Amino acid sequence: MIRVGINGYGTIGKRVADAVAAQPDMELVGVAKTRPNFEAETAVSKGYPLYAAIEDRLPLFEEAGIDVAGGVEELVEASDVIVDACPSGIGAENKALYEEYDTPALYQGGEDADLVDVSFNARGNYQEAEGADHVRVVSCNTTGLSRLLAPLQEEYGVQKARVTLVRRGGDPGQTGRGPINDILPNPVTLPSHHGPDVNTIFPSLSIDTLGIKVPATLMHTHSVNVQLEEVPTAEEVRDLLGAESRLFLVPEKYAIDGAGKLKEFAMDHGRPRADIWENCIWDESISMEGDDLYLFQAIHQESDVVPENVDAVRAVLGAADRDESMARTDEAMGIGF
Ligand code: NAD
Repeated sequence: MIRVGINGYGTIGKRVADAVAAQPDMELVGVAKTRPNFEAETAVSKGYPLYAAIEDRLPLFEEAGIDVAGGVEELVEASDVIVDACPSGIGAENKALYEEYDTPALYQGGEDADLVDVSFNARGNYQEAEGADHVRVVSCNTTGLSRLLAPLQEEYGVQKARVTLVRRGGDPGQTGRGPINDILPNPVTLPSHHGPDVNTIFPSLSIDTLGIKVPATLMHTHSVNVQLEEVPTAEEVRDLLGAESRLFLVPEKYAIDGAGKLKEFAMDHGRPRADIWENCIWDESISMEGDDLYLFQAIHQESDVVPENVDAVRAVLGAADRDESMARTDEAMGIGF
């Protein structure tokens, strides 16, 4: 059994914890939290050992009547791999702790690429993480783009990808984020950070990205144009993408017109937290104009990186090859509609 610890039990950390706990070859050692809020209560109710991320705050947990298994150092020491899901920038501060205990660490997309040995997307570059001590699972948007571009690059070759990312202003729980009533080119300058981030997975791929922030919380939506080297029909692209386990082609007959109905669909399917781990590509949007492929996809920012974290655990330990790991993760989580 691979022993996995989670440091930072928020939006991403709590989902990765559940996904790890569901894997037959993994054991969740515990989760570390800074304060005894509702998420600490969730961890306790699920029976996950809770560790205090900051020693001085231990009394706060005691006052809240929450039993703590120990300090974060003990969690790091007891784990074969640690998943750091702390807010952006805190992962970098935690790196020395993981090095002290010689525990390989996975960081999230909010950290800088130069913090780590390898940036990771399971479909894109699984094998590069084998044996690495510090790995960054790329952000939700970069994950969504990498999953899409990997098969296109392999099958047809990509001349140039051009993507406009319509980004949710904040997650549903991020009450302080915005905009509330505006549409913001974000950033105003080109490129947005997403293109260069995709290049941490595919260094030679030519990609331009632009970002726009909107008053929405449910999902991101990408308007994608990929100029291909070999020219397939739209039907051939559909077959190629439809064969990928983490790409969901939203059938026209479902009459799903946006993120709201996608989330309803996920809830109808009993998905935990209404999570959608797959890219949602509108089937009828897949079009070829000359050598240009066009499509729309929606990305559930809070959950698409979760299976990638699970695969990265196996990758760093050399515990399975890519296809085996992805299949195991998919099956244990119930990926695929
Ligand atoms: P979050 O704020 O929801 O969760 C972070 C958790 O870490 C919180 O529970 C916080 O209390 C805790 N924390 C803060 N300081 C800590 C410390 N020193 N030690 C231990 N825990 C600490 O943040 P999130 O949205 O889960 O983001 C985590 C990372 O994942 C970031 O790098 C982010 O960029 C990345 N990410 C976020 C999303 C998203 O949409 N939310 C998507 C992909 C990647």
